[in-house]
Amino acid sequence: MKLSKALYFGDFVATPLAALVLAIWALAGRGYLGAGLWALAFLIGIGAWTLVEYAVHRWLYHRVPFFEKFHDAHHADPDGLIGAPSFLAILVLLALFFAPLLVLGFIIASGFASGILLGYMLYMLVHHASHHVIPRPGSLLYTARIRHMAHHYHPMPGNYGVITAFWDELFSTRLHGEGRLSRR
Ligand SMILES: [Zn+2]
Ligand SMILES: [Zn+2]
Repeated sequence: MKLSKALYFGDFVATPLAALVLAIWALAGRGYLGAGLWALAFLIGIGAWTLVEYAVHRWLYHRVPFFEKFHDAHHADPDGLIGAPSFLAILVLLALFFAPLLVLGFIIASGFASGILLGYMLYMLVHHASHHVIPRPGSLLYTARIRHMAHHYHPMPGNYGVITAFWDELFSTRLHGEGRLSRR
């Protein structure tokens, strides 16, 4: 969906803010033990995000017609400010990765959901930079950009992961080459 500048860049503020609120809410007055458990759940949440990112991109955005319609807009106009409105994305992520985990306790649910939210923000940042920043060769962003450009311009489908190539390697969708640094 084409977004206004405020809504598009608002994501970069709203998402970590939601994670911060969750963290403070869970950790206020719970001491070191609570913080350790929260940090562990947070790290697992970030790792889980990379799989969510891969799965959503591969099996929803490129398979399910309803989502494909929105994602095709990004492929047709890769530099446009296109995305999901953050309040909607945050609500969906909380409904899927916070509410059900409450059975394991508030600290675990908060840590895991914060990891997912931060992973989502990282994905938005890396994806945005992959399209709008020309990085220094050899840098991490350079690798990410080459990888994502192959997703856009390689004749074969693949490279669904934006933050990491791990799941593409695992599911044999890793593309090499044809990742032009720039379309222009
Ligand atoms: Zn795509
Ligand atoms: Zn893209």
